[in-house]
Amino acid sequence: METNTTWDVIVVGGGPAGMISAGKAAENGARVLLIEKNETLGKKLLITGGGRCNVTNSEFDVRKFLERFKDDGKFLFSTFSQHSNKDSLDFFHKRGMETKVENELRTFPASNRSQSVLDVLVEYLREGGVEVLSNSPVTGIALEDKNKDSGLSDSGDGVGDKKVIGVTLKGKNILHAKKIIIATGGASAPHTGSTGDGFAWLKEIGHTIITPTPSLVPIAIKDKWVECLAGISLTDIKISVFQNGKKQFFKKGKILFTHVGVSGPTILNMSRDIGDLLKYGPVTIYLDILPQEDNGTLNTKLQELFKEHDKKKFRNAITNIVPTKLAPIIVDLSLIDPEKECNSVTREERIRLINLLKGIPMEADKLLGADKAIITSGGVLLDEVDFKTMSSRLFPNLYLVGDILNIDRPSGGFSLQICWSTGYVAGKSAADSLIIE
Ligand SMILES: Cc1cc2nc3c(=O)[nH]c(=O)nc-3n(C[C@H](O)[C@H](O)[C@H](O)COP(=O)(O)OP(=O)(O)OC[C@H]3O[C@@H](n4cnc5c(N)ncnc54)[C@H](O)[C@@H]3O)c2cc1C
Repeated sequence: METNTTWDVIVVGGGPAGMISAGKAAENGARVLLIEKNETLGKKLLITGGGRCNVTNSEFDVRKFLERFKDDGKFLFSTFSQHSNKDSLDFFHKRGMETKVENELRTFPASNRSQSVLDVLVEYLREGGVEVLSNSPVTGIALEDKNKDSGLSDSGDGVGDKKVIGVTLKGKNILHAKKIIIATGGASAPHTGSTGDGFAWLKEIGHTIITPTPSLVPIAIKDKWVECLAGISLTDIKISVFQNGKKQFFKKGKILFTHVGVSGPTILNMSRDIGDLLKYGPVTIYLDILPQEDNGTLNTKLQELFKEHDKKKFRNAITNIVPTKLAPIIVDLSLIDPEKECNSVTREERIRLINLLKGIPMEADKLLGADKAIITSGGVLLDEVDFKTMSSRLFPNLYLVGDILNIDRPSGGFSLQICWSTGYVAGKSAADSLIIE
């Protein structure tokens, strides 16, 4: 690779946002270098969606899609009007990757493999002739005095008297480019390479960085019984969150038990609010595993069950009403003698059991750390970004895409869609502005 050349566009970070920006800039005629510190591209992309990659969300009403973001995602309208989730799906479909839609419009490659998404992106880079420099950690953004050459003119490429001229590699070697796209990601799952490097560089050159904190993150639970259910998920349940005996909020959905607590899409989406409550004191989470039954119908159901299986032991009969793996936990928590025959379960015991099935209590311990988080919330202050082009308002030839931005979003394919939309717009704007200049 030539080091004394000036590239049209340098993209830092070979994740989804970096790859789509690099590919788009190249498609629009720019000479592009993509720099990645890992040996391979898309390390985090490969672990998304449990290895299946929830590539986007198929809510095609843009307004409804954006309502899922803070402030109704108003800031994203101009970006999405240039490249929406439908456009992203067209992009993948045209390149031979079929997709399928699952619950809550979560959309996955039909192959059930994240690798299919990565393959399309790598081919896109190859088609555009993007040069990839892997195993190459960037250490900063290179600035230069605006008036260095002429001593007079203001090129308009930066704030004050500085402009962005390229990026620095380890060993202080500067690679020069007319346009720089920063796609170094957030700080979640740092083992994949997303160690928040870009935040430090951007802060150093004058951007405001909202301190990244883990968001969309599993929750550690104090109750030890949770551990016995590791790997088990319960669907269509109601999850209610209480503090000081008062219900704070609830959601219906799915829960996944882990070795230390709970996870799954519904829990991830509740995690930030639970984290906020934990700052003020203990938080109890109640699981209603039979939300479709009210207490009265459940009472009748149990009476009928105990009548039908009158000679059966309670611990065996209960599996008719709750999932087999959960049954021993229910038996334990109900404080009913497991060996008792159903015909001798008392009314008090039955009522205790009903209350338990309608609200299994678990005490939240804490949110797990950035290593277990899907995303970090925090990043570049959105007011400092022009969402029509994804360029920095401080340095017009600098573009910011993907997880580096302070965009709060739910789980469900929304994070990757931010990468596709912001990356596409940045790549296009960077390349197209070269022609205008
Ligand atoms: C376990 C898990 C599951 C997820 N599942 C989903 C899902 O199913 N759907 C969804 O929408 N979102 C999901 N996400 C979130 C999604 O992965 C991120 O939003 C997305 O990867 C962000 O893309 P990005 O390109 O901005 O950053 P990243 O994917 O973080 O990529 C940044 C790249 O920059 C490189 N880099 C960093 N610093 C430097 C440096 N100094 N020099 C050179 N290169 C550098 C990194 O090595 C990395 O390759 C998941 C996240 C996790 C952790």
